[in-house]
Amino acid sequence: MKKRKKKIIITVDGYSSCGKSTFAKAIATELGYVYIDSGAMYRAVTLFALRRGLVAGGVADEQRILEVMPEITITFKPDRETGFSATYLNGEKVEREIRDREVSDNVSPVSTIAGVRARLVELQRAMGKGGGVVMDGRDIGTVVFPDAELKIFMTARPEVRAQRRYLELVSKGMPADFGAVMRNITERDRIDSSREASPLRKADDAVELDNSDMTPEEQIIWFRKLYKKRTDES
Ligand code: C5P
Repeated sequence: MKKRKKKIIITVDGYSSCGKSTFAKAIATELGYVYIDSGAMYRAVTLFALRRGLVAGGVADEQRILEVMPEITITFKPDRETGFSATYLNGEKVEREIRDREVSDNVSPVSTIAGVRARLVELQRAMGKGGGVVMDGRDIGTVVFPDAELKIFMTARPEVRAQRRYLELVSKGMPADFGAVMRNITERDRIDSSREASPLRKADDAVELDNSDMTPEEQIIWFRKLYKKRTDES
């Protein structure tokens, strides 16, 4: 009888808008794993803070955000329309709201708060317990699951990333301005890479995937080879 492969943890980290979620969702589907979007959790905290007036114009009130953290519950529930899970903030579906420009413009300052990170990392570890999970973000392979069996670090040229994000917003009927998208991506990368708490960096044992000139299908073929090699070895 063919031995069933162990359900592992796969981490997908990288820069903003390089297609991490598209890639992570596709490989989760391929393996029958659960996909978890850790960025959605930082976005949900940011939406809550925006609604309470605790962050604005890229400046976050760290103290007060930490005080309201116990009031925030983030959950994921399967969405029939998309086939993936949708993000809920205190029971309200906020999948669309967390992708708004105001959230994108304020999420990185909120994500630099160490106490926010500590709480979300705790939740992410609980979600990954038992394996069979693909989680994407910035610090998943370095901090959340440093012992993950397979780590991927994604990157793409900034103009390619801005173009993809711009087209994604247009396709969703959301307001989009190419220059503003480019500025947001560059600024988020700058804050995410230079922050003190869990900065974005490639884990030493992560495999890099520069997908600037690759189609989604080519990325999956790349992944299949990597997965086979790694799981055959173990
Ligand atoms: O992945 P996404 O672009 O939706 O993430 C939004 C923001 O959340 C990032 O720019 C980053 O500031 C923050 N983030 C983080 N750590 C993660 C995932 C996201 O700091 N693991």
